[in-house]
Amino acid sequence: MKPIQVVQPSMPPYEEFCEEIKDMWETRWLTHTGPKHQKLEKELSDYLRVKHISLFANGHLALELALNALKLSGEVITTPFTFASTTQAIVRNGLTPIFCDINKDDYTIDVHKIESLITEKTSAILPVHVYGSVCDYKAIEAIAKKYNLRVIYDAAHAFGVEVDGIGVGNFGDISMFSFHSTKVFHTFEGGGLTFANDTLYSLLAKLRQFGMEGKERVPIVGTNAKMTEAHAAMGLCNLKHIDEEIIKRKKVFERYLRNLQGIKGIKTIHLKKNIKHNYAYFPVVFDGYMYSRDEIADRLAKENIFARKYFYPLTSAFEAYQDRFAIQETPVAKQISESVLTLPMYADLPLEDVDRICKIILN
Ligand SMILES: *Cc1c(COP(=O)(O)O)cnc(C)c1O
Repeated sequence: MKPIQVVQPSMPPYEEFCEEIKDMWETRWLTHTGPKHQKLEKELSDYLRVKHISLFANGHLALELALNALKLSGEVITTPFTFASTTQAIVRNGLTPIFCDINKDDYTIDVHKIESLITEKTSAILPVHVYGSVCDYKAIEAIAKKYNLRVIYDAAHAFGVEVDGIGVGNFGDISMFSFHSTKVFHTFEGGGLTFANDTLYSLLAKLRQFGMEGKERVPIVGTNAKMTEAHAAMGLCNLKHIDEEIIKRKKVFERYLRNLQGIKGIKTIHLKKNIKHNYAYFPVVFDGYMYSRDEIADRLAKENIFARKYFYPLTSAFEAYQDRFAIQETPVAKQISESVLTLPMYADLPLEDVDRICKIILN
């Protein structure tokens, strides 16, 4: 049988993409905030219901530059239950990651454990809307206000997610969305930062273009993190189909729930009523189940089904940090990380395959 991977990129119709890129052979405008880049910015700010969005070559560089733009120093409170990018962005800015535990309900930052980690060196909080679950943004905002901290959300998983009709990109000072191929919406590779502060827009434009302002001035230190026109074209095509894609994901999600909900020792994620979800992932926690997470992963792999241990190991366990930082204990994150398995989840996953995957888990 054909292997089933944990994710499969969604593709627009081939002809649609060819049509979208055709005029580039005339205009020769291939990068540098071209017309497709501008159009995608406009369409994405409407779709995500945000004031501003800036586009980048990928989500990680976007996050690095977000931290850079806010001129942070010292320590940043974050969670270790995330992809490498979140913590690496902190470290590559010369900042110290302080690891806060996650809560057992939706695996986002445990807001009751943030305050005890704040020191005079703390400059920001970097929480993650992991699996598209929305952090307790009200509690985080209250803490940030009380201690005068910046808040940057890693919203890489949360494209299109809304709380009571408000797009998640409106929370905190800046939110980062990833448009990597494996995400709900993609531009091959790409990323975006959303924010309300008007002055950030031109600062970010300089940071992604070598720190340059116009053709001859270089007032700040920057890098190269521009999104090309071909990438923006893919985004324009994918955005046309995003709502159908999310509906298809919802069907897959509900099929998993139908098979796995209520089984002893298997915990699925809980969807809150006031949230418009994007059904980005289907994580399952095996806690007191007859087989361990690793045994289930191995059995699925024997059937050519590749679930992933997202997120194992915790970023706080990365070799790269061991002699460099004092690593905080995060027992809940550790336990979830050792028992979670992210099952295959994408719009075109046939429902019969979902049933087959569940059958292997249940037998
Ligand atoms: C994908 C991802 C990123 C990085 O995004 P890229 O676009 O791949 O650079 C950052 N954080 C999390 C949680 C992610 O899943």
